[in-house]
Amino acid sequence: MVKWTMNEDTEDKILCMQHCTNQMNIFFSEFPETCPLCGKSLKGCSLIIPPFRVPSPFMSQNDISCSFVVKPTKGSFLREYKSGDNLHVGITSSSRMVYNFDELGLHADRTGWEQCIVVSITEIKEFTSELWDSRLKQMCCSGLWTSEKYDEDNNNCYDFALGFLNQFLPTNIEPFKKLEFCKNYILPWTRRAAQFIDLYRRVQDGGRVAVERCRR
Ligand SMILES: [Zn+2]
Repeated sequence: MVKWTMNEDTEDKILCMQHCTNQMNIFFSEFPETCPLCGKSLKGCSLIIPPFRVPSPFMSQNDISCSFVVKPTKGSFLREYKSGDNLHVGITSSSRMVYNFDELGLHADRTGWEQCIVVSITEIKEFTSELWDSRLKQMCCSGLWTSEKYDEDNNNCYDFALGFLNQFLPTNIEPFKKLEFCKNYILPWTRRAAQFIDLYRRVQDGGRVAVERCRR
């Protein structure tokens, strides 16, 4: 369940436009005074394509409910993440709390997931938010997800989150397993995010502007 509100001033705001050629895209986070391609002033001039926002792969926990979410274990996607870094996963409740299991045990976070990826699980369709929330609370009280039982390799955030999701799978579908789940569900999303992260960093490095040949 995703409720999407466009927040104008999030960190992941990248805009795109074309000025003097339809072969090159100009990406920017702050509207440049002059065109980085032809050098002409952009004040009041006409553009081949006026600025539009590049869709971001990231969402905030404040905009989503009853979802599976992913973020880097350390740092943020846009600033620190490198391909292959460890990821941390959690489950959002209907009230935007993120339940996640780590060395502190299972806990529900009200903040800290403002830039995460939502992985859609198409197999899970039929549930009520009441059932979703009550199962999350049950797992909190079960005594199975305590700091003593946490193990970085053998009992970690994935074991909790997949254990939770598996309760909602239709009976004719095999329960999710860690490695397969990462490959089939998480990797496609982090790959897409990596392209956006790369563009974001090029825009930052280039003085908030980057140009790129159009992909056709
Ligand atoms: Zn130009």
